Amino acid sequence: MDKILYIAAVEQDGALSKTSLEALGATTKLAGELGADFDVALFGKDVQAAADSLAGCGAQAVLGVSGEEFAQARYGTDAAAMQALVVESGATVVLACADSRISRVAAGVAQRLGGRVDTFLTDISGENGQVNATRWFYRQRMKGVLTRTERPWVLTIAPGSFEAAATQPGQADVKTVAVELPGDAVKTTVKCIQSPDADQQTIRPDAELLLVAGAGWTKKQDGAVRSGDAETLILSFLNNTKCSLGSSKSLVDISGEGEAVLSFMSHLHQVGQTGATPRHKKGLATCCHGEEPHVVGWRFITERRAVNTDANCGWAQGKADVLYVADAFAVMNKVNELLSGE
Ligand SMILES: Cc1cc2nc3c(=O)[nH]c(=O)nc-3n(C[C@H](O)[C@H](O)[C@H](O)COP(=O)(O)OP(=O)(O)OC[C@H]3O[C@@H](n4cnc5c(N)ncnc54)[C@H](O)[C@@H]3O)c2cc1C
Repeated sequence: MDKILYIAAVEQDGALSKTSLEALGATTKLAGELGADFDVALFGKDVQAAADSLAGCGAQAVLGVSGEEFAQARYGTDAAAMQALVVESGATVVLACADSRISRVAAGVAQRLGGRVDTFLTDISGENGQVNATRWFYRQRMKGVLTRTERPWVLTIAPGSFEAAATQPGQADVKTVAVELPGDAVKTTVKCIQSPDADQQTIRPDAELLLVAGAGWTKKQDGAVRSGDAETLILSFLNNTKCSLGSSKSLVDISGEGEAVLSFMSHLHQVGQTGATPRHKKGLATCCHGEEPHVVGWRFITERRAVNTDANCGWAQGKADVLYVADAFAVMNKVNELLSGE
């Protein structure tokens, strides 16, 4: 019988992130299906508050690595903490979320422990004592279900794949685990974090709605390019709805060809075969043709609508639930008016 360990890094404010709680949801599901016990292991500056927030989660034991050295994400200290926690628990299956902090060290930890790693899992289940881990391959084109005999098996859970575990706070009895850090483990320090203001950040994975802009926004409309109007309309909609912004490949590529561009658009916004596969519940495509290499990135978006002047565009070929055959400039202008109550 496998022994399961859930590991999470605590955030700077001492809490656990939503993606960490989703990985805990995956852990409790797996433990329930296998009829196995699981431990919780936390590392960070001070893990007590996070441990207390999970007190009622059903873990057999709560292990912790606390200390100033573990406050910030850093390969040397994070890998050492995770390694010590796995060894202490004796776990054979280790689950954590696939955020950037854990993703950086998961493979190294598995290597140090002589185990194996599989990352970005979208599902995990236990059947007849066997752990089945599901992930996508070839940019979400093929789904594979993996089993392994090697242990320990480190598994990271893709954000948005599980419901965050419902937790019951209480008083957790944390067993402190000592970590011997090699001298060079703390040589990297984070001096500051630079990130755009929340309002400038247009990729919002947690938003309910994705607005996709296509190259049509920068094409001539009645003889004139209206990219200034396009910018205003798109940004107003983003501000009004707090939705996330995506793009077609053509639109993000256009900047390299010296054509009119939307200043806030980058290759990070690209959705599709060679772009991202976001998981928003709803999607609205505007001035985007809906060609297959783009729409393949909409795989996980269940409610799809599009605005296009072309009644025969790709969205009309069964790729959208609703196609509005209309000028997106006029539609978005009206929608923004309604949203802002003008
Ligand atoms: C190997 C490969 C990988 C690819 N990967 C990706 C990928 O990851 N993501 C991706 O997006 N593409 C990808 N592509 C490119 C893809 O095939 C399309 O070329 C691209 O998606 C087209 O972008 P678009 O719809 O914005 O532009 P266009 O095809 O130029 O379409 C613009 C649309 O805007 C509409 N329009 C114009 N004005 C208005 C208006 N006023 N109101 C409403 N509608 C209007 C037009 O009717 C038209 O349908 C890939 C292609 C290949 C070969």
